[in-house]
Amino acid sequence: MNITDLTLVETIKALENKDFSEEELNKAYLDRIEAKNADLNVFLEVKKNSKGIPAAIKDIISTQFIKTTAGSKILSTFIPPFNATVVDRLLSNNISIIGKTNLDEFAMGSSGENSAFGHTKNPWDIAKVPGGSSAGSAAAVAADLAVFSMGTDTGGSIRQPASLCGVVGFKPSYGKVSRYGLMAMASSLDVPGTFTKSVADARLVMGWVSGSDGMDSNVQEIASPSTSLRVAMTDLKGIKIGVPKEYFGEGLDPKVEKVIREAIKKLEELGAEIVEVSLPHTQYGVAVYYIIMSSEVSSNLAKFDGIRFGSSREDFGEEVKRRIMLGTFALSSGYYDDYFAKAACVRTLIKQDFEEAFKKVDVIVGPVSPTTAWNLGEKMDDPLAMYLSDAYTIPASLAGIPGLSVPCGFVDGLPVGLQILGKYMDDETVLDVGEAYEQATEWHERRPDLSF
Ligand code: GLN
Repeated sequence: MNITDLTLVETIKALENKDFSEEELNKAYLDRIEAKNADLNVFLEVKKNSKGIPAAIKDIISTQFIKTTAGSKILSTFIPPFNATVVDRLLSNNISIIGKTNLDEFAMGSSGENSAFGHTKNPWDIAKVPGGSSAGSAAAVAADLAVFSMGTDTGGSIRQPASLCGVVGFKPSYGKVSRYGLMAMASSLDVPGTFTKSVADARLVMGWVSGSDGMDSNVQEIASPSTSLRVAMTDLKGIKIGVPKEYFGEGLDPKVEKVIREAIKKLEELGAEIVEVSLPHTQYGVAVYYIIMSSEVSSNLAKFDGIRFGSSREDFGEEVKRRIMLGTFALSSGYYDDYFAKAACVRTLIKQDFEEAFKKVDVIVGPVSPTTAWNLGEKMDDPLAMYLSDAYTIPASLAGIPGLSVPCGFVDGLPVGLQILGKYMDDETVLDVGEAYEQATEWHERRPDLSF
């Protein structure tokens, strides 16, 4: 067994047993990064520590005295004077930062190709995209270059790359974890979350990073059961699982559908009751998201005006410019009511769809992404095709509910993730169902062959 194969829970146990030292642990990861990072372009910056448990941090999350670029030329020399809350919380739990991971510029993208610092490659096939925007954070865990990693999810940026890279990705409920120190993309949607090798690891990290810090007024203190006292569910008796018919329509690759249907069968074998549900406003999700998200982007990115951060607005990439223009238009007088105000109303309908469904079921499951990882470059000239690839992750972001991607199979050698969505602030049930599924299957134990 290699040190770098271990989950976070296993790593902590092994350190306690003195199976290896923190120094050996860090060296094992640094050696692997040394050997593989040039091929995968996962890290924008690597820190050579010898203490703590090494985690990777998406480069849109502020790290004190460590460059944080948001994948943008505009911030290529920016060094934050403070840590994001999630980073502070990790550091006080004996986690060290092994590196900052590559991403689509300001988290805008679904493939990792919008980074100003070159694209990240998918460890399962380096001709494919890793997904995005947390491209490097997903690939880091998939390639065993960090014990776990942190990302952000605004419309799917944790769940989708986790699915495409075959790792566990968790987006908590909006308001569970402080956004303090994230570079804001769309403030009403941004949520920090985790990439891990197991659901138990996600639960552990969430226990560290959740809860109020006095810096983000949206964070709600809702007591969740103590992580250490929790006994993992091994069956799903008494759990009702909804399957939304709108997530199985046109656009879903039949091979992906087959894998997802098999996963649902497995959940049923574990004792869950499977119920068909409807989320009737799903089809408007992508359009609503592109109006609300772009509007918030145009306002959040106004501070990068060429005065405060040194570089010129011309340094923004194409996709960022496209969204700033779209958002400025949607908010302009004369169009505000037609676009922004209307999108805000439809967002409420999408939220109500979930509330209705959750009157009948405990969680909702379906695909994360309509396809597996696609070829690098394939969708770069077609922004609409790229946007539509997020059709199943965006609605949960608009509703603020928790979402998990757990490995559930392969299509032609590429991983597929099962999405598990839960009631607002009921993150624990999502993790419970994910963990029961994970323990009954072996998909999460597969590793890519990195002998390229
Ligand atoms: N892929 C989506 C987008 O391009 C979601 C991004 C995200 O969640 N940060 O906006």
